[in-house]
Amino acid sequence: FYAPPKQVYDSHIELSGQEAKHATKVLRYREGDTINIVDGTGGWYDCTIAQVAGSIVKATIEHAKQISSPTPEIVLAMGIIKKRDRLEFAVEKSVELGVKEIVLFRSRHTIKENIRIDRLEMTALSAMKQSLRAHLPEITILDNVESVLDTYFDHQVLVAHEKAEAKSGISIEQRKKNKTMLLVGPEGGFSEKEIRMTIDKGGQVISLGKNRLRAETAAVVFLSQFI
Ligand code: SAH
Repeated sequence: FYAPPKQVYDSHIELSGQEAKHATKVLRYREGDTINIVDGTGGWYDCTIAQVAGSIVKATIEHAKQISSPTPEIVLAMGIIKKRDRLEFAVEKSVELGVKEIVLFRSRHTIKENIRIDRLEMTALSAMKQSLRAHLPEITILDNVESVLDTYFDHQVLVAHEKAEAKSGISIEQRKKNKTMLLVGPEGGFSEKEIRMTIDKGGQVISLGKNRLRAETAAVVFLSQFI
């Protein structure tokens, strides 16, 4: 279960909203039952349900530990793709694979934007719980590739490009960097200008093989080389 840090007190935690409903209505948890709660910033709490009052569940903390953030820290920056379920797939898989943050950017070839950020956040939340992680990646939207590069200026930038020479896969030293941003383009790929700008700012072009992958597949293939 998930409760934001502001609902984690010294000796107890309050579940609310969907989380409380899921515990009481769907799973029919009762007082005395034990549950695991994470706060999305590494806190992992073994709890006992103390009180079920309407839409709030009060849980007593029996044991608490801090899970360290996955290393290396990987930011996935993806061009906004049109199909909502494909975008949700990319978010779900990158959370399972331990991404630190997800950035969705508009780009030259962005076809249509119908982002439901609340749904993407729900997807990330359930992927965190399902994969027994304690860190909830933040999902943000930026206007263009330039602002993505400026925001993550202190990261190693690897840009997946289907036109890169096939041999330019990810090297050992690139894997070792502790802060990396992976850039994946939208369905229409990156514009030449976007690629040039990325390279000018120190980005390295990476091939993910000679076949053309869908953006959401490229994100998974890219990320899987860092876990
Ligand atoms: N530009 C092509 C493909 C875009 S695929 C088109 O117009 O159809 C969407 C994104 O997935 C690309 O921008 C790239 O980031 C990534 N990608 C797909 N296949 C790749 C490959 N073989 N190597 C590296 N990146 C790839």
